[in-house]
Amino acid sequence: MKINIVKTLVLISTPIISFIINNESIAQEWHPDAVIQSMYAGVAYIHGYKAIPRVYRPIPPGGRTGCAPMIAMNAFYCKLDHSIYISTDMVKFAYRYGDAALAYIIGHEYAHAMQNAYGFNQNNSHITELQADCLSGFYMKAVPNIVFDQRDIREIQALAYSIGDHNVWSRQHHGTPPQRLKAVTIGMSASHPSACF
Ligand SMILES: [Zn+2]
Repeated sequence: MKINIVKTLVLISTPIISFIINNESIAQEWHPDAVIQSMYAGVAYIHGYKAIPRVYRPIPPGGRTGCAPMIAMNAFYCKLDHSIYISTDMVKFAYRYGDAALAYIIGHEYAHAMQNAYGFNQNNSHITELQADCLSGFYMKAVPNIVFDQRDIREIQALAYSIGDHNVWSRQHHGTPPQRLKAVTIGMSASHPSACF
């Protein structure tokens, strides 16, 4: 992932901006805090800073959230306090793929926050989940402050495929591996979020 220097300056006043613009080090993996903060700022910008959810730093399993205590390997949107939570081990899992994989998860949960805030597609089915994947893909393409390169895109697609499931009769079903891969890929190549509806 690379910082889009020009637009980042406008968006966020954090100390994550590097001074050496053309140094390869910028293309190195970002710290999770920087990924979370930058995705959050970029997506809030896309939505015109409306209905912004809170996004917390990663929480260890058992830690407190606005909903139930955090469980292992989880990321979720909590309606009760309009906040996004992710567990520390889920962050580690994402980094098996790379920093862009974490951006995908943050985008997915932000999409759930928007589904809730604007009242679209809230039936909690795998259709809701696939739409969140697609919107996350669109966010990653559209955020003005982060540039996702080809390697990032492969990380995102690999994670999407790996977290697909075949429990099609379960309420927890999020879509099969091919469906999740397709959803995020459609989003990443879309020029408008309507591609996800
Ligand atoms: Zn979801």
